[in-house]
Amino acid sequence: MKHKNQVFDNVLDLIGHTPLIKLNKIASKFKGNFYAKVESFNPGHSSKDRIALYIIEQAEKKGILSPGDTIIETTSGNTGFSIAMVSIIKGYDCVLAVSSKSSADKIDMLKTMGAKVYVCPAHVSADDPRSYYQVAKRLHEEIKGSVYINQYFNELNIDAHYKSTGPEIWKQTEGKITHLVACSGTGGTISGTAKYLKEQNPNVKVIGVDAFGSVIKKYHETREFDEKEIYPYRIEGLGKNLIPTATNFDVIDEFVKVTDEESAHTARLIAKSEGMFVGYTSGAAMQAIMQLGELGEFKESDNIVIIFPDHGSRYMSKVYSDKWMNEQGFFDSKNEAAAQNIQY
Ligand code: PMP
Repeated sequence: MKHKNQVFDNVLDLIGHTPLIKLNKIASKFKGNFYAKVESFNPGHSSKDRIALYIIEQAEKKGILSPGDTIIETTSGNTGFSIAMVSIIKGYDCVLAVSSKSSADKIDMLKTMGAKVYVCPAHVSADDPRSYYQVAKRLHEEIKGSVYINQYFNELNIDAHYKSTGPEIWKQTEGKITHLVACSGTGGTISGTAKYLKEQNPNVKVIGVDAFGSVIKKYHETREFDEKEIYPYRIEGLGKNLIPTATNFDVIDEFVKVTDEESAHTARLIAKSEGMFVGYTSGAAMQAIMQLGELGEFKESDNIVIIFPDHGSRYMSKVYSDKWMNEQGFFDSKNEAAAQNIQY
């Protein structure tokens, strides 16, 4: 961080160095010490600031990008926001192809940050010309002097976390981390962080979090792509219907699957128990902890780090809307009390 007396040259100087915050209540029934790496403290409010800055600066170093050029990406919102933010500071145009599954808030935010946004249908296959992958590819071909970040297939995504998130966690835990639990979307966060941590201590156990409806966990176990695993689900940014090369499956020990419903309730519980207003995938990662805890995964001396990738404000029309929760049927089967807005 380049700063003097807390005065910074621009927002980019605040990327990284996010706090590790002890979770005091939510997992207290389990053995072990639980810490959240709270990525919403990045200036763009998510872990994606790290990869946006790193990948763009690597392209600048290689002489691929110069001011006025266009940066293109497919994104569930967070990466787009981060690229838009970096683009503003560095003088690039930002063009984003986003999934229709992304919340309206996220899309409005991207536009506010100066990005040109193309909304593409969520439930078509990756090779369909309407998919956000194909739209981004086409735009990359059409726009002269453009760079396609391609986060799912860009190994610099892994490097960004290898160089920042991993070392930060190692230092913050004074090398005492025993478990890393993180959601896997592109897989960049978990792969880069895990690679660094395992180089320091091969015994650190790395647990990925996947969604029901995603192929990632099955692929990790069989190294085969099983189409039968794929069906629609609601959590944005978690799991995938393809195998990203930005995931290094070799540094991940196991995957845990979580449901949309339980993850939503757990996200709400994080706010109510820890005072942390975080995103849906933070709820998913915490839900994985709850499941692992019930199975007796942790012991008293363990230091478990959970990545909370983004901020809750991006989900006001979803997980933090009682109306949305009701529409999903999430209040019917499990938590009637929540429907009445009674304390969890
Ligand atoms: N949570 C959210 C909200 C995300 O947008 C993403 C990225 N798609 C992830 C988690 C997963 O991070 P990664 O892509 O590094 O696996």
